[in-house]
Amino acid sequence: MSVEISQSSFDSEKDYQRHLEKTWNDDVDALLPQQGQSYFNQLTHRLTRLLHADRVFAASFDLELNYGTTIADYYDGEFWDNYEFYVPETANAILAAGKSIVLGDGLRNKFPEDGSLGSYSGMIAQPAYDHDNNVIGMIVVLFKETFSWVHAANSILDLCMGRIGSEMMSFYKARQLNDMNHQLLRELALSNQLKEELSRLAYVDRITGLPNREQFRVDAKMYENLSDHWIAMFGLDCFKPINESMGIEAGDALLREIGLRITRADLDETRLYKWTGDEYLLFGLVDQLGDEETILRLCDELFDEPFDVNGSQVHVTRSTGVSLLKDHDVIDGAIQGVCIALQRAKIRGGNRTVYYDISMNKTDSQFYKVHSMMQDGISKRQFTPYYQPIYDPRLEEYTGYEALMRWIGPAGKPVFFPDQFIPIAERSGLIIALGKEMIETSITDITTWNATYGLKRDLAINLSPLQFHDDDLIRDIEKIISKVGVDPNLIKFEITESLFVHEGDYVLGKLEELKNLGFRLSLDDFGTGYSSLAYLQKYPFDIIKIDKCFVDDVVTSKKSKALIKAVLLLANDIGMKIVAEGVETEDQAHCLSMMGIDYLQGYHFSRPLPAVDILATYADHVTMKGEVKRANFLPG
Ligand code: C2E
Ligand code: CA
Ligand code: CA
Repeated sequence: MSVEISQSSFDSEKDYQRHLEKTWNDDVDALLPQQGQSYFNQLTHRLTRLLHADRVFAASFDLELNYGTTIADYYDGEFWDNYEFYVPETANAILAAGKSIVLGDGLRNKFPEDGSLGSYSGMIAQPAYDHDNNVIGMIVVLFKETFSWVHAANSILDLCMGRIGSEMMSFYKARQLNDMNHQLLRELALSNQLKEELSRLAYVDRITGLPNREQFRVDAKMYENLSDHWIAMFGLDCFKPINESMGIEAGDALLREIGLRITRADLDETRLYKWTGDEYLLFGLVDQLGDEETILRLCDELFDEPFDVNGSQVHVTRSTGVSLLKDHDVIDGAIQGVCIALQRAKIRGGNRTVYYDISMNKTDSQFYKVHSMMQDGISKRQFTPYYQPIYDPRLEEYTGYEALMRWIGPAGKPVFFPDQFIPIAERSGLIIALGKEMIETSITDITTWNATYGLKRDLAINLSPLQFHDDDLIRDIEKIISKVGVDPNLIKFEITESLFVHEGDYVLGKLEELKNLGFRLSLDDFGTGYSSLAYLQKYPFDIIKIDKCFVDDVVTSKKSKALIKAVLLLANDIGMKIVAEGVETEDQAHCLSMMGIDYLQGYHFSRPLPAVDILATYADHVTMKGEVKRANFLPG
């Protein structure tokens, strides 16, 4: 670049203009190969030096919005970052009209409303045009000192405005394209983020944030050959009642808490997945069989403490199914196995761990076979109550009956006994319909018999834990009693302890509803499983049924005798009655009645009988007085 000489070295404006034009022509060669940003940088830099200006900037121009965006702005010896600015209306009007502004001084007077011009007194500004002659921008040269020969200087701008216009056009296009690209890239990044988020969500459980079964499917591909590994499936024993009584949000909070607690426990070399509903799958990553026992024990401990659910402390237990991958050819088989094992754990009363073994597949096909036979049996009305009389040793007569379900085939013989078909009815949900029918039929029967003989014998009906999950249970019972017109005090519902071990408070509410309707409640199978005297105080039972296993050796075993005595003491204390079940011998009956047991039930007195035979036991009540008579009916 040549050395610029200021106007003060020239005699006339003409001389000065000639000098400028000559110098500029030299510069043009250097500018020729430049494009875009570097063209405007060089342009503003060179013009500043040539014209001894204080500032030169090129800007694009939005006529409608009245603002410009600088493309290059050179002053104080450096390039300034591009910025947007409002063009004062007057300047805008002049430039938009395609006129130049050429002022040696008095700039502030001309544009008094433009504060940004404060330190400048002279300005040369020219509009830049696109090929269609639209104003698209401007070039502005500013002087702080008065500049006399502005027209000479302006002639240099005249020389370069053509190139400036086309450079601006391509610059805008490039910038627009760039902007568009940016926009596209932004959108792309956004949609990638979205896609990532969506795909993340597909593999994550919405409630707990744990990897879900889809993720397990993906991971399973890696696990396929790891034959020494194991999986465990947990299912909560009491999720439904919590959801129902505390609300779905509380249920979700519980599921989250459980997930968190297991994850935080950092169980070595395992990965936790959220399966469906209230089920979690734990995958043992270490190929050390036997490890699963330790880990599952640790998991058990995690459930000892209550969970905090929206400020309430909730105790939950879980059932667990475990399956070793070596027992399966494919991972799907292992999943199926672990589900079967979990079902088993639940059917056996929950709060336990069951290992899958191959024989379960067989019993599973047995399940489907019996289940479809049961559906057939229900449609043919093959399910019916039998009644086992209950004997009062003080009155020396029957005072009531226990209704026991029977499945009688076309030949008049039992197809299966309750111990075989009730678990299947529970697992499949058929128990709800069957149980309802049992309640209605047996209540109708006892009411008819009592009316016939003018007696007030009572009726015990067994309720399965599953029936408590039927929302309609209480309402249906109410309907039945009002339809039949029975005194609810004659009806006793028998419940086993396993029910409230897992679902205490929920069940307590339902039991109280039954009590409020006037029914009596009986605690069945006392002495087995979870027995705890504490339940007797907490739950509103009227009757305790001592299990057959204590009755069996009551004559010979001091221990059994001691337990029965203890229960008797407590029962008397809190006003409960005691029934001994499974009384098979005269000795047992004698021993138990001597001890002060209120009621006796068992084959020694009578087997469960079909309804047609019950009237005979009513007729007997007169003749039974005076001696304990064995009913001599066919086995039920
Ligand atoms: P459970 O409630 O403990 O009923 C007593 C069971 O002992 C009955 O078996 C009865 O026939 C049997 N039993 C009575 N006296 C004797 C005896 O002296 N010796 C022996 N060895 N057994 C005696 P069953 O009828 O086979 O019922 C088995 C279980 O099935 C019942 O046990 C009860 O838990 C369930 N069940 C029966 N009917 C129903 C029902 O309608 N609903 C529900 N949910 N469960 C039922
Ligand atoms: Ca019973
Ligand atoms: Ca029982």
